[in-house]
Amino acid sequence: MPYAPQRGCQFEGCPKRAVTGSAYCAEHKALMEKHYEQFSRGYKANESHIT
Ligand SMILES: [Zn+2]
Repeated sequence: MPYAPQRGCQFEGCPKRAVTGSAYCAEHKALMEKHYEQFSRGYKANESHIT
């Protein structure tokens, strides 16, 4: 297949299919957008983030 209309979610290990216009499934799309917001705002060393 030259170009599949729906690709799998680019998140490592995620078996779901990516939503249209995104490289991730709906779940990880939201997650990545959240992450991107954090990255663009910069990490705060003083904030206790448990991941
Ligand atoms: Zn996913």
